[in-house]
Amino acid sequence: MADTVSPEVRSRIMSRIRGKNTKPELAVRSFLHRLGLRFRLHAKGLPGSPDLVFPKYRYVVFVHGCFWHQHQGCTHSGIPASNRSYWKPKLERTIQRDIETQLALKEKGWNVEVIWECEIDEQRLSDLGERIRSAQ
Ligand SMILES: [Zn+2]
Repeated sequence: MADTVSPEVRSRIMSRIRGKNTKPELAVRSFLHRLGLRFRLHAKGLPGSPDLVFPKYRYVVFVHGCFWHQHQGCTHSGIPASNRSYWKPKLERTIQRDIETQLALKEKGWNVEVIWECEIDEQRLSDLGERIRSAQ
């Protein structure tokens, strides 16, 4: 895929992605937008209201926080030792809901991808952009 973004724009995007106060979802959005991909946000009509929806490619993307969605094996996903009886069922419900949501979307013919907060980097986002384009 041709690089449609100048080096300085890219470095600005990437510094925002790594920035401490940046919402990961905004970073993903701005990166994919710069690649020329167009999408809708939080489509209410679809299961789980996916964060990004690419109707042209039948593709949806969720940007998941590692803690809230319990990224397996990730250091950011530990359940707090205090109040464990509160957190554990709550987080397990989220995991279950995520599984059901993804199944429902796939049944409707959507390609589904999850981007984990801790894994957002230039290479992965470029690869994702390419997968979306080739899903046409
Ligand atoms: Zn993670």
